[in-house]
Amino acid sequence: MGWAFSLPRIETCINATALCKKLCYGNGIRYQSAGQKAKRQRNFRTSQFLLAEGGPELLAENLSMLVDQARPRDWLTAKITGTQPAIPFTLRVHDVGDFYEPNYVQAWTLTAKKHSECKFWFYTRSFVEEVFAELTKLASLPNCQGWLSADSENYQQAILSLCKAPAGIWKLALLQDSDLHSGVIPAFEGLEMDVDIVSFPHHRNGRHAEPVRHDLLTLCPAAMGNLALKAQKDTLRPCQTCAFCLP
Ligand code: SF4
Repeated sequence: MGWAFSLPRIETCINATALCKKLCYGNGIRYQSAGQKAKRQRNFRTSQFLLAEGGPELLAENLSMLVDQARPRDWLTAKITGTQPAIPFTLRVHDVGDFYEPNYVQAWTLTAKKHSECKFWFYTRSFVEEVFAELTKLASLPNCQGWLSADSENYQQAILSLCKAPAGIWKLALLQDSDLHSGVIPAFEGLEMDVDIVSFPHHRNGRHAEPVRHDLLTLCPAAMGNLALKAQKDTLRPCQTCAFCLP
């Protein structure tokens, strides 16, 4: 998906379901190297340290430096010449991990406000009241899109959170396992609002859950294997090509 910031799951996925813990792509081999784990732990320790020393403002200053690094290499040239950079300026908050406390969310809100030219997006299960209130402020920013991550176990909680928040802010993301709960689709059908729902049929190591097809669901083309990942720098990543989840 291009640039992303990650945290360790055990410490930060405060509202994870048993199902998402089991199916999380963070279990995949690519996320399990000692270096990857150490990086996520370092991010977590640093964020906690900075929050304790200077609150969301100090953490936001540091996150801002990361956002600067996510700028496409030709960003300034493109700006000066009035052209488009080779790849868009995007940042996914949390490839792995989730928002674990209100102060931490506030830091991201300050950061996203400062970088209005960068598109941020995130998926979350942190439907805990005080965290969710801050997340709704973050998701309300014009350059930020938040997705409520639902599965067979927590879909009612996700829908409740969607309905509690002002309309038009949140969208829904479905982690579709091979044995999707029979209540999920009727619950989506019962929504009295138009809301985008992206569906990620579970896949790992070449094994795929049979995708559930429905007019309400947009199947993620990357999860369906329809967008090839290119390893070269400065080329569009699948999410930048598709852009369905971006603000
Ligand atoms: S739907 Fe598109 S933007 Fe969203 S995760 Fe899949 S490829 Fe990325």
